[in-house]
Amino acid sequence: MAEDLNNDSSESDTFEVIDTNGPVQIIKDNGDHTFTLCENDLATILMSKNLKDTPVVVVSVAGAFRKGKSFLLDFILRYLTCEGRPGWMGDPEEELTGFKWRGGTNRETSGIWVWGQPFIRTNPVTGEKVAILLMDTQGTFDNQAIVRDSATIFALSTMLSSIQIYNISQQISEDDLQHLHLFTDYGRLAMQDDSSDSKTKPFQRLEFLIRDWAFEYEFELGATGGKNYLNKILAVSENQHEELQEVRHHINNCFENVGCFLLPYPGRTVASKPQFNGKISDMEDDFAKGIENLIPYFLHEDILQSKKIHGQTLKGKDLLYYFKSYVEIYQQ
Ligand code: GDP
Ligand code: MG
Repeated sequence: MAEDLNNDSSESDTFEVIDTNGPVQIIKDNGDHTFTLCENDLATILMSKNLKDTPVVVVSVAGAFRKGKSFLLDFILRYLTCEGRPGWMGDPEEELTGFKWRGGTNRETSGIWVWGQPFIRTNPVTGEKVAILLMDTQGTFDNQAIVRDSATIFALSTMLSSIQIYNISQQISEDDLQHLHLFTDYGRLAMQDDSSDSKTKPFQRLEFLIRDWAFEYEFELGATGGKNYLNKILAVSENQHEELQEVRHHINNCFENVGCFLLPYPGRTVASKPQFNGKISDMEDDFAKGIENLIPYFLHEDILQSKKIHGQTLKGKDLLYYFKSYVEIYQQ
């Protein structure tokens, strides 16, 4: 496998030209419960000069559909574009663009998309230069998806990201944890490598992001309240049903780091007005403040970690290799 990874593909100049100044679909949902890798388009991005030999940080957002995942990614885009400088949130009257997002009861994102342009950063602590890639996923369990489709998308995005943001509405339910268990198991089994040290956890960072958090009087908004809330939810006790204990052990055994951030309700305009176009002036103040705090918590340069599989840091070309091999597993 290592040999394959180091193979310098000389194909990099032969891809069909695509526009990478925006969202690019890399996994297509064929509508018949199968998925196809858009290999040419993914290769155009991952084999580009900026990415091919640079360690990659892959930021993914996954979870139920129509819960503001793509919307959040568009603020992450603003943060990265402005390099986190003060005022990065932008003009309060500006329309929010980037990955497609919208209200209504239909899903907007299908398959998996990435932002065509990586963001190059240097971690000031480790000195490592990395390329950040943003990944948007189709909502799990929407009315068109069966469990297996959801599991495939969630598993692939977890396997191929270094930060998986699990976007959840209101609070973490046992169902959310069960789904996470099922979906990550689907991934863990697929990527099992007998030669790797069994102590290495298969995935890196998992962040629960709770939207419309209403119990501020119990756990404060933000990362500290989130951490305390998560500790309560993930605590294992002897009088818990065996299944509940197992889910909790599984999460701790699968991810190196697990965090949680509590974001308040954005207000009625954001939640339910069809005319809403993403203007900050239409959001409740503490929601906008929450977004402003949340993104540096996820993505501050000091904490960026490149993607590793079986302990090995992945460069753009290696990520392409893993995309191909993991998608193949689910096509069988
Ligand atoms: P996705 O399917 O998860 O990607 O959801 P979208 O990003 O397309 O957003 C779906 C809808 O949720 C849009 O109408 C947004 O205005 C709205 N929205 C964004 N953030 C939040 C939030 O934190 N809470 C609620 N209730 N709605 C939100
Ligand atoms: Mg979406």
